[in-house]
Amino acid sequence: MKAHDGMYIDGAWRPAAGRDTIAVVNPADEQAIAEVPAGGAEDIDAAVRAARAALPAWAATAPAERAARIAALRDVLVARKDEIAETVTAELGAPLPFSQAVHAGVPILVAGSYAGLAASYAFEEKVGNSTVYAEPVGVVGAITPWNYPLHQIVAKVAPALAAGCTIVLKPAEDTPLTAQLFAEAVHEAGVPAGVFNLVTGLGPVAGQALAEHEGVDLVSFTGSTAVGRKIGATAGAAVKRVALELGGKSANVILPSADLAKAVGVGVANVMGNSGQTCSAWTRMLVHASQYDEAVALAAEAAAKYGDRIGPLVNAKQHARVRGYIERGVAEGARLVAGGPEAPREQGYFVSPTVFADVTPEMTVAQEEIFGPVVSLIRYEDEDDALRIANGTVYGLAGAVWAGDEAEAVAFARRMDTGQVDINGGRFNPLAPFGGYKQSGVGRELGSHGLAEYLQTKSLQF
Ligand code: NAD
Repeated sequence: MKAHDGMYIDGAWRPAAGRDTIAVVNPADEQAIAEVPAGGAEDIDAAVRAARAALPAWAATAPAERAARIAALRDVLVARKDEIAETVTAELGAPLPFSQAVHAGVPILVAGSYAGLAASYAFEEKVGNSTVYAEPVGVVGAITPWNYPLHQIVAKVAPALAAGCTIVLKPAEDTPLTAQLFAEAVHEAGVPAGVFNLVTGLGPVAGQALAEHEGVDLVSFTGSTAVGRKIGATAGAAVKRVALELGGKSANVILPSADLAKAVGVGVANVMGNSGQTCSAWTRMLVHASQYDEAVALAAEAAAKYGDRIGPLVNAKQHARVRGYIERGVAEGARLVAGGPEAPREQGYFVSPTVFADVTPEMTVAQEEIFGPVVSLIRYEDEDDALRIANGTVYGLAGAVWAGDEAEAVAFARRMDTGQVDINGGRFNPLAPFGGYKQSGVGRELGSHGLAEYLQTKSLQF
């Protein structure tokens, strides 16, 4: 695979300050496919300086011009969508059709939505005798994970560009090639030098240097709750803005009036997609006692059908971690009805689609984020019991409710402590705010709510 031997800073690829590198491995066959430079504090400093120097001019650009650049970026992503899908498949392992539809397709939608919002957003409003201006926050330090490598980048960079901010991106170490491809797309789209900068590197080195840099005004982080907590503390101590998109352990609540077969089928597919490496996956399926056995049979059947259609996990560490969680589930008394901890292939970081029955709410597999293709079926006695279980984790990122009647599902969803709920399999909406209650995060991404994260207000009184 093609890789740049440098950082994209101030509109050009330039050599890293040090000689350290990161090997990029294809998780489907464990072969190294490329290497990229592992940047450090010096590279981050150069990138932040470039972003700061570019800020006044970009912040003063008319919103229509920023919209035009984001639309051009969307067009480059469209033109290069096959290359994007192939790159994500090579470094993340996702099956090619999934990479084409989701890993390449969703960022195109999101970039398009911000081209529209940059043009239409009310950056100025009258409030009584005041005019309130929405101004860019400044230099953004963006730190992203590997699970949806391009989506996570676009969900930060597109609204930041729309707001008039400049950006330094530190992508995940497992998926730097997609980030390099994105930097090429930004360049091709004619975004001025210094507005977007890329530094590849390790989290505790380059990531930490970015989060701590005093030239950064907002740190926007997506990743684990453990690292998010640290970044929040660093930002808090420096009194700088922070947005955190963290982990989840979402509930898929199937009320007795629902279409059970559909709810279970969609629920299993939701967890198995991207090999379970989705922060918002509905990894706990809550089923009424009267329908529990039938749901277990349906879920086992749905998981068994996956066969070779599921990709590997991203790396050896995640592979060991997820298999460890499955072993823990068995040890705590959950009943395996599909899959298991054994690696299904000799090569590649594969885990079989796994379904646990007889899971109780306090078990580790029902409380901790596994980030693998594992779904746990939990029995409830009545609606209050279901709600207690659904809300009974430290997370609150997403969820689903199924019922015969939409109003019944909505009434239940309104009682859930979570940021996003799909009603009877509702479709993804790139304009709807996405983000967590409780320890799933601080702030929202996507749509106008996501844009507002990159703005601060100034009021003039007359
Ligand atoms: P991670 O927290 O280990 O890494 C995320 C990013 O942070 C990477 O770029 C990494 O290099 C960087 N990083 C690591 N240590 C750092 C440090 N000390 N300082 C600064 N940066 C550092 O997470 P991961 O394993 O890459 O991703 C999986 C996690 O991300 C899961 O918990 C998942 O739920 C979460 N996630 C959340 C969302 C969301 O929108 N809420 C989306 C995707 C993933």
